[in-house]
Amino acid sequence: MQFTEYPTQSLMYITNRPEIVFTHGKGSWLYDNEGKRYLDFIQGWAVNSLGHCNEGMIEALEKQARLLINPSPAFYNEPMATLAGLLTQHSVFDKVFFANSGAEANEGAIKLARKWGKKFKHGAYEIITFDHSFHGRTLATMSASGKAGWDTIYAPQVPGFPKADLNDIASVEKLISEKTVAVMLEPIQGEGGVIPATREFMQQLRELTKRHNVLLIVDEVQSGCGRAGTLFAYELSGIEPDIMTLGKGIGGGVPLAAMLSKAEIAVFEAGDQGGTYNGNPLMTAVGYSVISQLLAPGFLEGVRERGEYLKAQLLELSKERGFEGERGEGLLRALLLGKDIGPQIVEKARLMQPDGVLLNAARPNLLRFMPALNVSREEIDQMMAMLRTVLDSL
Ligand code: PMP
Repeated sequence: MQFTEYPTQSLMYITNRPEIVFTHGKGSWLYDNEGKRYLDFIQGWAVNSLGHCNEGMIEALEKQARLLINPSPAFYNEPMATLAGLLTQHSVFDKVFFANSGAEANEGAIKLARKWGKKFKHGAYEIITFDHSFHGRTLATMSASGKAGWDTIYAPQVPGFPKADLNDIASVEKLISEKTVAVMLEPIQGEGGVIPATREFMQQLRELTKRHNVLLIVDEVQSGCGRAGTLFAYELSGIEPDIMTLGKGIGGGVPLAAMLSKAEIAVFEAGDQGGTYNGNPLMTAVGYSVISQLLAPGFLEGVRERGEYLKAQLLELSKERGFEGERGEGLLRALLLGKDIGPQIVEKARLMQPDGVLLNAARPNLLRFMPALNVSREEIDQMMAMLRTVLDSL
């Protein structure tokens, strides 16, 4: 079928989509309806943690679809309970709330913190967040985000999200008051341009928040579930947060997200939080398959190795072309271009023939890489060769 036969004009405009209609994918490769293939180093914005159409996920989905699709969020189901058990077993958290998107998980975290503040901190409600942070596109999560311009689009914002500077503990300390209930951050800012919070900053934040009886919330929607080379990125700084949100990679491509907390903070009462699809067995069964695969012996070690390999390749390229180096953790990395040529590279890479390569410029002056966690070294080499060809053509 040709692109023109699809009624794409019926879709509401929300972003500039290129003129491609994808039909299928496998691992690191995507195929369009004209037979062209693309090496995918975006993976649905770090969503497809195990690449496209992972066999374990398909098996879990098929098996669960024949057993039970949705009994109602008002009842327990087996995959929901077992995935929650697996997540608490492999993290510092005790309780799990399942959601359908990262934004919804973050809404849950914001609500839980505010409820906790009502109960234990004389109604404190402010949540300190950071410039350039990204927490989602619901009204509260847009208000929490530090994205330029977002304070006015849907004004008035949800109040109570003062912004500090990442990696600057004095800027956080200045904002802390009796109204503060939590500090919320991405351990690695993803949309902001792959900017890791330093280990020192995370430790200072933990100490500061403990001293003021303030909760520490980590948004690991992008950095979690193996992306940083550890199951969760907070592990890299050796601290224990109070609340964590997960999305994207936890479902490996299906709509699944989660909000986890310590037992003493889990203060929701009946009716406070929930939704029709929260914890539905079809998605949680897939999540169980994804997390189990990440926990298989040697898998995360392999992510770290391939992350180091990608890092070395990017540094070599940077040296060769006079760029400004790279940064990131595991398989969430950025090449710092030093000039605003990112969008141009992304476009040319996609249009390459016979195969295209899908890249992302989180900011105009950098390229962000988020391949499948099981990407091969050969695929990294292929991507680098294609990137060099694009750079030669600029
Ligand atoms: N938090 C972070 C750190 C994210 O990167 C994103 C998505 N880019 C979100 C929240 C929102 O997730 P979703 O798109 O699933 O609502």
